[in-house]
Formats: sequence, structure tokens, C-alpha cells
Amino acid sequence: EAKRQGYNNYHYFAGPMNAQTKKRLTLQHHLRYALEREELFLLYQPQVDIHSRKIAGVEALLRWQHPEFGLISPSEFIPIVEDIGLIVPVGEWVLSSATRQAQRWLAQGLSPVRMAVNLSMRQFNDPLLLQRVHRALLEAQLAPHYLELEITESLAMQDAEKTVTTLRQLKQLGVFLALDDFGTGYSSLSYLSQFPLDVLKIDAAFIGKIQTPNGANLVSAITTLARSLRMDVIAEGVETKAQLNCLQRYACDYVQGFYFYKPMPAHELTVLLQQQC
Ligand code: C2E
Ligand code: MG
Ligand code: MG
Ligand code: MG
Repeated sequence: EAKRQGYNNYHYFAGPMNAQTKKRLTLQHHLRYALEREELFLLYQPQVDIHSRKIAGVEALLRWQHPEFGLISPSEFIPIVEDIGLIVPVGEWVLSSATRQAQRWLAQGLSPVRMAVNLSMRQFNDPLLLQRVHRALLEAQLAPHYLELEITESLAMQDAEKTVTTLRQLKQLGVFLALDDFGTGYSSLSYLSQFPLDVLKIDAAFIGKIQTPNGANLVSAITTLARSLRMDVIAEGVETKAQLNCLQRYACDYVQGFYFYKPMPAHELTVLLQQQC
């Protein structure tokens, strides 16, 4: 394995720039202007109450529409945004836009939904995170319990001691906290119980396997764990009725996935929220 890696590295440094490296450099360059050119925008994906089938929350998901390259996925450009040191301004823009949208829906008298916002590693480790979140809430005039911040399990466990401290500080602001992509990292159960989390999001990979005996056992174990830690459970990536039926048998509270809704622009979600009033 080490040998193979060495071989690849050799090629990487000695060979001509490969297509992937070239693409990355191009994206880097264009990302620097994406914010000011207003090429970034948010889509919102509903989180549905598994019993009432009502929309109880939404997750804000970032998109980049480049005039030439088209629509670029966050899995592709967020790591680059992190690398070039732009995640803080981009993250501030996301927080500000998402909190304002949440407040707009509240002001329209629609049934209240909580707005979930993803935080990346550098944002979470930013010493000014608390102030930034506080300011976004003030500027949007949004009550803190309408905002939920998501960090991934693997990020949370990187420096679990520090995560406990940061999450406690965030919790004191009154925001909700969710652990994203659960099951893909390596959680220490003792830390998991120290994190003041409100929500645990089961990674889509488990939902994909829920119809196998092993998959079903794992999902059931995760929901039991979440329950004993007094967390709500959201299943991510629910695509079929069969998966939904399985989830209903376990103590899953909310589902997020294409079976109900894909991520959509705010105006489409406004219509849906009006319908469920
Ligand atoms: P995530 O936070 O785990 O978000 C869920 C991802 O699953 C989203 O991908 C969503 O579109 C997708 N998804 C939802 N339901 C289904 C389904 O039924 N089937 C399938 N195949 N996919 C489904 P998306 O929007 O491409 O985002 C990917 C990741 O990028 C997110 O994963 C999150 O980690 C990151 N991300 C997105 N927006 C932001 C942001 O504003 N800030 C930061 N720091 N990260 C973000
Ligand atoms: Mg998320
Ligand atoms: Mg996730
Ligand atoms: Mg994910």
C-alpha cells in the first residue's frame, strides 16, 4: 500500500499536471469571485416528521452556478473553498442567507420550520464562530431555537475534547445541534454522551442497506443509542417507500430524502409550506 502511494506521489510531482489538478486550480481561481458575482445560492431540503408527514425542518444546501462550468456540487467545491481560506466569508454568507430565509417564512405566518446549516471544519474551529452565529441571529432577528448547526461525526471526533467545549458554547446561545453523517466516523461513546446534541442524522449509506438484515440491525441500534442519549433521529437519503416503512418500525423521528423532497429553491418551499398551514 505504502509503495503504491509512493508511486502515485512520484507521478503527481514529476509528471505534467494531470487533468484533475488543472481543474482544481481553475475552480480555485473562479471561486475567489463566486461570492461577489453572486454565483452561490442555497437550496432547501425539507425534513419530514415521519408520523404527521409535515415539514418540520429544512437543511440549507449550498450550490455554485458557474456561467461556463454549470452547476457544481458542494462536495466538489467546499474542500477547495476551505483550502483557499474562503470558507469563513462563504460560511458567513450561508448563515446570513439561511437565517434570513427562516425569519422570512416565520414572518409570513407559515408553520415554523427549523433551519439547519452545515459547518465545515475550519468554520467549526474558527475562534470567532460564536460571535458570527450570534451576529447572524441578531441581524436576521431569528430566535436561536430556529437555527440548527450540523457538524459531521468525523469532524466532531477529530478533537473530541475541543468539540465538547465548542458545542457547549454554541448550545448556550440556544441553537440546536446536529451530528451529521452518523455512522461513517468512529465515535467514542463516552464523548458522544458529552456532546450536547439535539439531533443525530443517520448517514444515507445505512438507509441504503436498511432492507438487509445487517443494515436493519444497525439502524435499529443507532436509533436506540440516540434515544438513550435523548436525541432526535433524522434518516438521510430516504429514497423509497420500502425504506420509509422500515424506518417507521424503528424509533426514527424525521426523514430527509428524495422520496419526499429534493433540495429546492426557497420560493418552491414557500408554496409547500403554505399548503400545509
Ligand atoms: P450533507 O450535509 O450530508 O447533506 C445531505 C446531502 O445528501 C445533500 O447533498 C443532499 O442533496 C443529498 N441528499 C438528500 N437526500 C438524498 C437522497 O434521497 N438521495 C441522494 N442520493 N442524496 C440525497 P449536497 O447538497 O450535494 O451536499 C453535499 C455535502 O456538502 C453536504 O452533505 C454537506 O456536507 C456539504 N455542504 C452542503 N452545503 C454546505 C454549506 O453550506 N456549508 C458547508 N460547510 N457544507 C455544505
Ligand atoms: Mg448536513
Ligand atoms: Mg449528511
Ligand atoms: Mg453526507
